[in-house]
Amino acid sequence: MRKQRPSKPVRKQRPSKPDLRRKKRPSKPVRKERPSKPVRKQRPSKPDLRGLSLDELKSFILKLDEPAYRAGQIADWVFKRGARSFDEMTNLSKALRERLSEKAVLSCARVVETRTSEVDGTRKLLLEYAGRTRIEAVLLRDDERITGCVSTQVGCKFACSFCATGAMGFKRNLTAGEIVDQMISLRETAAPDRLGNVVFMGMGEPFDNYDNVMRAIRIANAEWGLGIGARRMTVSTAGHVPGIRKLAEEGLQVHLAVSLNAPVQGLRATLMPIADRYSLTQLLGAIEHYSERTGRRATLEYVLLRDFNDSPEMADALAEIARRLLCKVNVICYNQTTDSVFAPPTDRTVESFLSQVRKRCPTVVRRVSRGSDIAAGCGQLCVPRDGT
Ligand code: SF4
Repeated sequence: MRKQRPSKPVRKQRPSKPDLRRKKRPSKPVRKERPSKPVRKQRPSKPDLRGLSLDELKSFILKLDEPAYRAGQIADWVFKRGARSFDEMTNLSKALRERLSEKAVLSCARVVETRTSEVDGTRKLLLEYAGRTRIEAVLLRDDERITGCVSTQVGCKFACSFCATGAMGFKRNLTAGEIVDQMISLRETAAPDRLGNVVFMGMGEPFDNYDNVMRAIRIANAEWGLGIGARRMTVSTAGHVPGIRKLAEEGLQVHLAVSLNAPVQGLRATLMPIADRYSLTQLLGAIEHYSERTGRRATLEYVLLRDFNDSPEMADALAEIARRLLCKVNVICYNQTTDSVFAPPTDRTVESFLSQVRKRCPTVVRRVSRGSDIAAGCGQLCVPRDGT
């Protein structure tokens, strides 16, 4: 019986792997064919006017041998009037409009879809930018104010386990012009009412796209730009420590919100993988530094997940952190997404969690979730791979 085992001849036929591997390894000639440098060199020749400061617009216009005051006229069209094409800029000569079309671009979204919540009037826009890139932006209304929630990335790298955007993976950063354009699109949606507030809480981690987000904030804040007060803007981070420390040095009056969601390292790392990169201790240190440098109190965002982070012990630990760092706390119930292992706690659990936190930290509020019936609530924004 043993003699009949045909093992050796079969093994001899297999050794094809080494040959395949060698063929697959990228040889030097293939690398040389990648045309990356010429593509990069072409980009600066077509600046996106939605993403330029007034000074940059002036330098651009001077290079076209036009007087500097034209920059103010163009800024007026681009930011105040929300022009979607150079042809709309009727106080510029036709020749200049043609030159602008040759030399520059305007990031303007195609509004693919608008959905309106029948519960609270929240509106969600599905916007498409260059390269068929689609993202979502949300307009929230309450009695006192109208707030735009903008995205900073297409998808997200940080994969928080309760977040639909995190499940999408990461596609690319949005440009400053595309972020500003979302605010313009939301302003048009809000009209005739005024878009008074902006939160950077949509798709993506704002500090992972730091420079473009700061640029967009400055354009939104400028008199010549959208004229939105810095104190009316909030940047929300999942706990990007270098970003918080950098923001502390910017001299901006924007609010900082930190998505905490668990007051202990182990649970936080389970819910939010970013905690493996920046520990809770490092995060709390960065928030403390931010408060000392700016004199501003950060807000801790806490999404309540049934049986994960809604116990009295968690409430005590959260209250202790907020008390020590002088932070405000926003508690919000989890918004159910499809295929999720999480669920929102009962109302009774939420109320007892809040009263437990209030024993040590009076600055805790329950934030009402808006737009959850149209998947526009916190953690629900998501554009599937087919873009629909
Ligand atoms: S919560 Fe923010 S950081 Fe976390 S996955 Fe969602 S978008 Fe990314």
